[in-house]
Amino acid sequence: MSETISVIVPSYNEEKSIPFFYDAICSEGEKFKEIDVELELIFVDDGSKDRTLEVVKELRRRDSRVHYISFSRNFGKEAGIYAGLENATGDYLVLMDADLQDPPSYLMEMYRAIKDEGYDSVATRRVDRKGEPVIRSFFARQFYKLMNKISNTEIVDGARDYRLMTRQMADAILSMKEYNRFTKGIYGWVGFRTKWLEYENVERVAGETKWSFWKLFKYSLEGIMAFSTVPLAIASWLGVIMCVIAAAAIAFIVVRALIFGDPTSGWPSLACIIIFMGGIQLFCIGVLGQYLAKTYLETKDRPIYICKEKE
Ligand code: UDP
Ligand code: MG
Repeated sequence: MSETISVIVPSYNEEKSIPFFYDAICSEGEKFKEIDVELELIFVDDGSKDRTLEVVKELRRRDSRVHYISFSRNFGKEAGIYAGLENATGDYLVLMDADLQDPPSYLMEMYRAIKDEGYDSVATRRVDRKGEPVIRSFFARQFYKLMNKISNTEIVDGARDYRLMTRQMADAILSMKEYNRFTKGIYGWVGFRTKWLEYENVERVAGETKWSFWKLFKYSLEGIMAFSTVPLAIASWLGVIMCVIAAAAIAFIVVRALIFGDPTSGWPSLACIIIFMGGIQLFCIGVLGQYLAKTYLETKDRPIYICKEKE
């Protein structure tokens, strides 16, 4: 019996890239045909504002291996991944970007690693960040360092979403129905044996990136909150440290008053201390509030995406 690999492609405003992607994946599909493996394509149109959906529908008319899901609005790539995994029917599933930054030429090697070497998934990471602004690379690196210090889940620096996995692993990922999805952490959390392939960064074939620096920054906070509660602990520790400092200060002031009397002075330092304490308190309440907000959204139990049409 022949096996099927589902290729899941989250696409947001990718009308320019999809034709290139389709050609590349088709020529890869020929190689798979020889070993009796079929490819199935699932484009997830993430509420694109350009002609992405029309382009995909056109492909669908010509090629029955093409499927699509179209969202009612832009839900983000994480939602696209979830929808793709949920609707794919293949024995193996692979996630790929539409911009060819995930070279299809690695697919065969990935498939072999699962088939012959017994891995559950094969993931990729890029070893450099060529073609990316220097500041962005710097912050990205710091983020991964911090993340791995404060979270129990391993999150690999430079990991891409390009990953081939077994049905079993995909089902494990689907069983995590949280609304705030940080897929890079989810992979680590579900476990399974993963082989890592490395390659140099490839620049996108057409169109432009959807990530601004600000978006990435917010995404990184999202990741920290989804996979670590250390910020909450920091708030408590700050409280403890402040109490110790206050106790020492009280002792100092009492002793000084006993020895030198108590002339009224030092109000500027007092003002500074009050402002400082107020700042720390607001900061800690803010951290608490962020987690509470996440909890609030999770308890609403909203769907991860809303499908408008699919075929
Ligand atoms: N993408 C998506 N929804 C979004 C943003 C991006 O489905 O809201 C898709 C996009 O079409 C592409 C992939 O996610 O296939 C990666 O996006 P992009 O290339 O912009 O990110 P980068 O490679 O620059 O990190
Ligand atoms: Mg890209």
